[in-house]
Amino acid sequence: PVVFEPNMYTHALYRLQLDRDLRRAIALIAKSNNEAQEFELYYQPIICLKTSEIRGFEALIRWNHPTRGLVSPAEFIPVAEESRLIIAIGQWVLRTACQQLRIWQRQFQRSLTMSVNLSGIQLEQANLVAQIEGVLGEIWIAPNTLKLEITESTIMRNTESVPTLLDQIKQNKVLLAIDDFGTGYSSLSYLHRFPIDTLKIDRSFVSRMSSDGENLEIVRLIVTLAHTLGMDVTAEGVENPEQITLLKNLGCEYGQGYFFAKPLDKKAATALLEKKFGN
Ligand code: C2E
Ligand code: CA
Ligand code: CA
Ligand code: CA
Repeated sequence: PVVFEPNMYTHALYRLQLDRDLRRAIALIAKSNNEAQEFELYYQPIICLKTSEIRGFEALIRWNHPTRGLVSPAEFIPVAEESRLIIAIGQWVLRTACQQLRIWQRQFQRSLTMSVNLSGIQLEQANLVAQIEGVLGEIWIAPNTLKLEITESTIMRNTESVPTLLDQIKQNKVLLAIDDFGTGYSSLSYLHRFPIDTLKIDRSFVSRMSSDGENLEIVRLIVTLAHTLGMDVTAEGVENPEQITLLKNLGCEYGQGYFFAKPLDKKAATALLEKKFGN
């Protein structure tokens, strides 16, 4: 028999409230008053390991809940996926990130990139490609400065429909990255069929790289695999200079992590760019 425990009740209630509050936060998006928004994008720099310069940013969503405070995406994205509210949220993220990219590119005269996370639910949308084309038609950025991140497990879960979709995105010259690489179960025989530009090595490998020889070999293998397939590599979760040295020696192109910078709000990211690139 299923025992109904009190924490199951609170959990179900919590999800219900979260769902209701998400709908309210999404309704605010339409009001287009920036001050009133509960969602906010943070931007984490992605660094070129060779030059130590900022190559671009990954957009990471934050939810400033009116009573709960900051709710982590790890907490609300799964709820938003279950209810498919992630579609509306994802649309807002894409548009907002591209608008910010355009502002920074013009202000600093550099071809900075913007990485945007796509949920598996968004990939199931029939009009995803049209949506991306719409944003690119409206916001004037070079398509190859936008990079869409899809997790390895999402890609491998949908091996029938995903290749065609990715080809269509690629026809628009948008860049594609496989996120959290190494944590899913990639079929190597599939990998070369996807038009992928970047493999992002999952933080778990990077963090254990220095202490554990096996993890170092895994990272080496991923870098070699990527380069063999004509892809570049971004290491996530870089937290110390020792990791940078190891990654550089392995030929990894880009790094992202707390050592360089935590995800920053728009103001702080702009201040960082001003410090680095002047103006
Ligand atoms: P992710 O795409 O793997 O993003 C990287 C996560 O690692 C971010 O957590 C980032 O803050 C964190 N991180 C970056 N550097 C370090 C480091 O050096 N050490 C440690 N310990 N952590 C680091 P965050 O922002 O909490 O996001 C969590 C996850 O939520 C993301 O993982 C992504 O899967 C999802 N997410 C965030 N924003 C969006 C979004 O706009 N759309 C979708 N679909 N998912 C999103
Ligand atoms: Ca990501
Ligand atoms: Ca990741
Ligand atoms: Ca990760």
